[in-house]
Amino acid sequence: MNTSITINEERLKNTFIELVGVPCPSCDEKQEAELLVKKLKELGMEPQVDRAGEQCGGTTGNVWGFLKGNVPGALRLFFEAHMDSVAPTTGTHVMEKDGVLYSDGTTTLGGDDKSGVAAVLEAMQCIIENDLPHGDIQVCFTIGEETGSYGVRYMDKTMIQADAGYCMDCGGHPGAIFNASPKAINLKLTVKGKSAHAGLEPEKGINAIMLTADALHALPAYGRIDAETTLSVDMIDGGLASNIVPEACEIVIDMRCPDETKLERLKNETVEIFRNAVEAKGGTVEVAVKEVAPGVNLDTDHATVKLAATAAEKSGFPVSMGFTGGCSDANFLCGMGLPTVLLATGMDKIHTTEECLALEDLNNAARWVLGIVREAAGERLS
Ligand SMILES: [Zn+2]
Repeated sequence: MNTSITINEERLKNTFIELVGVPCPSCDEKQEAELLVKKLKELGMEPQVDRAGEQCGGTTGNVWGFLKGNVPGALRLFFEAHMDSVAPTTGTHVMEKDGVLYSDGTTTLGGDDKSGVAAVLEAMQCIIENDLPHGDIQVCFTIGEETGSYGVRYMDKTMIQADAGYCMDCGGHPGAIFNASPKAINLKLTVKGKSAHAGLEPEKGINAIMLTADALHALPAYGRIDAETTLSVDMIDGGLASNIVPEACEIVIDMRCPDETKLERLKNETVEIFRNAVEAKGGTVEVAVKEVAPGVNLDTDHATVKLAATAAEKSGFPVSMGFTGGCSDANFLCGMGLPTVLLATGMDKIHTTEECLALEDLNNAARWVLGIVREAAGERLS
């Protein structure tokens, strides 16, 4: 591998500053999308905007770019980062201090996730201008990630033509790989009792709120269940008026675990505990389960994981692999059958106006993308 070929740090910084200077609230990324289409066109990456936006009321769809491989048979790669940033995000002015980028304190910086977008663009430009060997590459910049991963949720999965996916959207220094993330479900339990006048004849009612309280009290644990499993009672809604014994009470429990069998067992046990507690006092329970996000569960020796680890190692980054309790676009891409891991880009203090990004991390994120491409091509060259 010719290591003298590397990314252009000045250009990368300028690209990042240009990208975060464009307003891009969730599902209103039109201006950012137009800028990215222009940049991909200049690179000769055949940009396309898909129709995901139409399904979530967005002003644009996901922006795709394609680079046809020049190494037959090389692993086909997919790089993904989201275009939107959390509010306040419009009117970002970037300040630099001691090699770290900040906003002026009135907006978020937008390193979540323009660090990923900029790193991918710089790596692509480096590959193209140096005519480096590479397999087929797809890049995809998605919409509405922060408000519900709408871009990937409504993506036409037949557009994905890749073997390994990399979602550039996580804090930590480049070299950190997240190869496991939970499947997340919402368990909605509607406890039904019987209404009655609260003052005249409360004994004729069955208080659904009190039944729910009994059932919640019967749960053996909540919060963190074990290292990879969580259960959190996050919403409650019950009662109609202060003079009516409530007939119904609804709660929503967020449950997460990368092991589907374990998650299913936890869900069933929770429902059973609820049923037993509620039925013992004359009530009933209605159950509805909604999948929030599929899980990421790739072994450390999975080709997708190994490729990222080897590329990081060869670039001299400390490699770590592990679990994150959060869900990202990687979860949905895995759910669509593309093995995808989440990679760290250095974004820090995200979702706050103190958000920052060390230039060294941004540079290393781009070097990492470049390394993954070269490693994937090199495997077949040797
Ligand atoms: Zn993000």
